[in-house]
Amino acid sequence: MKHALKEIYVGFKSLVVGMRITLEQFFKPTVTVHYPHETLKIPPRFRGHIELVRDPATGKPICYACKLCEKACPSDCITVEGAKVDGAKKRSVTQYRLDFTKCSLCGSCVEACRDGAIRFSREYNLAGLSKEDFVMDLFKRLEQEARETEPPGGGAGPAQPPAAPPAGSTAEKVEKPATEVK
Ligand code: SF4
Ligand code: SF4
Repeated sequence: MKHALKEIYVGFKSLVVGMRITLEQFFKPTVTVHYPHETLKIPPRFRGHIELVRDPATGKPICYACKLCEKACPSDCITVEGAKVDGAKKRSVTQYRLDFTKCSLCGSCVEACRDGAIRFSREYNLAGLSKEDFVMDLFKRLEQEARETEPPGGGAGPAQPPAAPPAGSTAEKVEKPATEVK
């Protein structure tokens, strides 16, 4: 009899404790983010894959294919090609291949670029079915983006986000596919 009473007491106590925890959680604010319709605020120091930066005056990439970033990359992720247009003082980038499968986001390339021509993107939604999906031509991406954002009737190019400081810091190209939750 004494044993049965003890079991009832222990069972009731654990029920009360469980209900207390449940009620506490029930009245706390919801923390679930309804991704992909909502996203968390991306920290300023977040590093997505690198991307080329446009010259605000021309809308063209700042990069002139000096290959310093290519040499600085410890993982051989970068291959840059360029060509000199007639009359131009500097070469222009024609291909900027990034193999993101090997990238450790170390930042050596961003630090090596003296002209702030590359920076970390805010891209966090990359997904693919094969490794090839993560090998990208950043020059083509920039051209594609320019075509998509170009106002009707042409123009110098889309509005420019501020160029990234060269010393390994992140830049504020914010792509917001969804509402950001603070
Ligand atoms: S991103 Fe900078 S360092 Fe790399 S090739 Fe272009 S200008 Fe040179
Ligand atoms: S962040 Fe580092 S590993 Fe990635 S491309 Fe730049 S130098 Fe290479």
